[in-house]
Amino acid sequence: MKSDTKIDFKLSDWDIVGHENQIEYLKSSVLKNDIAHSYLFSGEEKIGKKRIALTFIKSLMCLSDLRPCNKCISCQQIDKLIHPDVAFISSTGSIKIEAIRGIISKTNLKPFNAPYKVAIINNAENLTNEAANAFLKTLEEPPGQSVIILITKDHSLLLPTIISRLRMIRFFRVPTKDLEKLINGDKDKDLLLKIASGKTGKIFDLINDPTKIIKYENWLEQLDEILSGDKVKNLEYSTQIAKIYDSDPEEVIEMLRFWILIFRDFLDFKHKEPLFFKQNNLNFMETLNTEVIIDIIRYIGYIENKISNINSGINSKLALDLVILKIGKIKKL
Ligand SMILES: [Zn+2]
Repeated sequence: MKSDTKIDFKLSDWDIVGHENQIEYLKSSVLKNDIAHSYLFSGEEKIGKKRIALTFIKSLMCLSDLRPCNKCISCQQIDKLIHPDVAFISSTGSIKIEAIRGIISKTNLKPFNAPYKVAIINNAENLTNEAANAFLKTLEEPPGQSVIILITKDHSLLLPTIISRLRMIRFFRVPTKDLEKLINGDKDKDLLLKIASGKTGKIFDLINDPTKIIKYENWLEQLDEILSGDKVKNLEYSTQIAKIYDSDPEEVIEMLRFWILIFRDFLDFKHKEPLFFKQNNLNFMETLNTEVIIDIIRYIGYIENKISNINSGINSKLALDLVILKIGKIKKL
């Protein structure tokens, strides 16, 4: 879509870590005045898709000569998701047809005071089939100056008829060397990078809420204790975890996945400086040898299997007992 917008502005640094090619592509579309009517931003959760979508829209709507300025009324309203010409839907539950009808009628209106009428649908994989089908016609014949961005963690969950009408941009995890720029000087830098595993959003979550990093530090200590391998203690511990699991299964799954991350680090143990373990005083690293590492590969598979069983509702207490006891044995192999 070519708009009447004169390109008499420059683009500022978008201040986003990683995703250089994707950002370059979007910036050049803005500068060439070659904006698609509809985009699909696809990639894992918490890697920065929404932030890039909003920055892209700010660049289209900003009132300054260096865009986005992040200061003008337009930029501020977009950041707060209250811009009259930018509709935003985000839902962890189903996105129903009523919400999509609202979006359709809004995009059909002329922009209130901006060059474009924008709709952003976050978690687009949650569109019900009915809602997605209702949206098809709008995507096929987009009204005037409308820009529609669907954001999804997994485009294979969308209807193929929807995907084929969108210009897809795929996003990937950000390399650790880029993530490091966000946390230079942080005393927990190595742990933060380990937990984030290439996801910028996770870094922001952890920086904004310091209690979260304490949670991971506790999980590390607990893992160290389990690895000491006292069977009676470990069974008691497993009972405690099972209780937490009953009220908050996500929490336990997150902990087990974090432990898997730690075990994966062992696998690199022979190939690189195990700085992470040194800094976190994990005692068990002293006893590692090659055979143990090979066995750990087996156990990681075992634990991941158990995690999916826990998720699928198989006796969670039994699965947790098995996981904890297996971890307790790792050191004695
Ligand atoms: Zn601005």
